[in-house]
Amino acid sequence: MRIVFIGPPGAGKGTQAKRLEQHCGIPHLSTGDMLRDAGRAGTPLGLQANEFMQSGKLVPDDVVVGVVVERLGQKDCASGSLFDGFPRTVEQAATLDKILAQTGKRLDLALVLLVDKDHLIERLLARGRSDDRLETIGERFREYDRLTEPLIDYYRRQGILQTIDGDSSPEIVFERIQKALAKVTAH
Ligand code: AMP
Repeated sequence: MRIVFIGPPGAGKGTQAKRLEQHCGIPHLSTGDMLRDAGRAGTPLGLQANEFMQSGKLVPDDVVVGVVVERLGQKDCASGSLFDGFPRTVEQAATLDKILAQTGKRLDLALVLLVDKDHLIERLLARGRSDDRLETIGERFREYDRLTEPLIDYYRRQGILQTIDGDSSPEIVFERIQKALAKVTAH
């Protein structure tokens, strides 16, 4: 099973993808986590990515795609992947489709988590990551609206989109995700 989680910053993509990983054993791939790890390790790629991340900008597609390709080559991804924070642009989405197609695979589901904007800001400020400062949050929302939201149409056209109301407790949102998954596996 290959699932993409889409949603603005603070929508709960990471929380829900981690839950699903525990529930069904499919690896959770967070490009944000991978880039932060690279930043902490001080690799050239990590340092380059860090500048974009701290200003709330998206990291260039080629950098992110490189990180994902490397991760997808690892054994555990043979059974599937839960993509959290990737793709974030239509170009990344088209590239992911191509990468998967090379080995006869494809995405099964794109889940959009929708949450009221005021709640998103509250959640981000409470989380307190270094890119969760108010100045950076505004830029991250703008990047989402401009570059990532078009993915919703991209996957709707592919017929694999399902929208989840993410404005509830993590437990309830997870139940909604399981229902969405059941629809896919029933086919
Ligand atoms: P996240 O942890 O998913 O909220 O990502 C944190 C930051 O990492 C984002 O604001 C971007 O700067 C960068 N990032 C993560 N994933 C991507 C991606 N797929 N494309 C571009 N930048 C990304």
